[in-house]
Amino acid sequence: MAVKGEGPRLADYHLHTPRCGHARGEMRLYVERALELGLEEVGFADHFPLLHLRDPHLTMDLEEVPLYIADIEELRRAFPGVPIRLGIEADFVPEEAERLGELLSRYPFDYVYGSVHYLDGWGFDDPRYIDGYGDRDLHEIYRRYFQVLGDAAECGLFDILAHPDLVKKFGFRPEKDITDLYEDCLGRIAASGLAVEVNTAGLRKPVREMYPHPDFLRRCRELGIPATLGSDAHAPEEVGADFDLAVLMLKEAGYEEIVLFEGRKRRPMPL
Ligand code: ZN
Ligand code: FE
Ligand code: FE
Ligand code: ZN
Repeated sequence: MAVKGEGPRLADYHLHTPRCGHARGEMRLYVERALELGLEEVGFADHFPLLHLRDPHLTMDLEEVPLYIADIEELRRAFPGVPIRLGIEADFVPEEAERLGELLSRYPFDYVYGSVHYLDGWGFDDPRYIDGYGDRDLHEIYRRYFQVLGDAAECGLFDILAHPDLVKKFGFRPEKDITDLYEDCLGRIAASGLAVEVNTAGLRKPVREMYPHPDFLRRCRELGIPATLGSDAHAPEEVGADFDLAVLMLKEAGYEEIVLFEGRKRRPMPL
């Protein structure tokens, strides 16, 4: 990661907080780390409460959302020179989409990430449920994942799709080519007009690869899909992790800018 004053101006839009029950470190430590790295802007995007199940190790409760927002407002006062965005990471579960939309509309988010962490009720990226891979066909898992991701893109609730190929997290990959699964999904994302996230957390997971794969990102670029950048930090020292590699990948894919959000409006920031 470049030191302050050198290299591209960057923003980390995917920071979690201890409110989700599986991240650690006070929010101000995340901001301080971002400043150390010379990031221009940060955005918190903690997990929005799940609507299809309750698990205190995954998200805050609904009653806590206003407190999360108050935390951000307090941080803005503590760091007046730094743009600190109020984002959120919301799970896309088709049956709950309508209720999710109603709830999200109550809060003044700068941007909303849509995430697919569940396939027909199965938390496929949760190590506690990894056994689920044993009784399913891998190609079918991938097919269903990219189908639901396309549904998430089209539902109209989200500004950005988080970690677009999260399904590879544990490194399980089908033998059959999956380019056709990508392609259908990419077309739906492009038509829906939302952005995709380059998320460096995959490098810290068993798959040891950025989300999304460089081929996927290249196709995003060809289709005119904007990109954002996020570390998915669940601890202060993960802020901005591997952003040098992410920028390299973005540039190799042909990107000359990432996008920023304020009040759910998008603007470019040159790389
Ligand atoms: Zn998390
Ligand atoms: Fe996620
Ligand atoms: Fe996240
Ligand atoms: Zn995430």
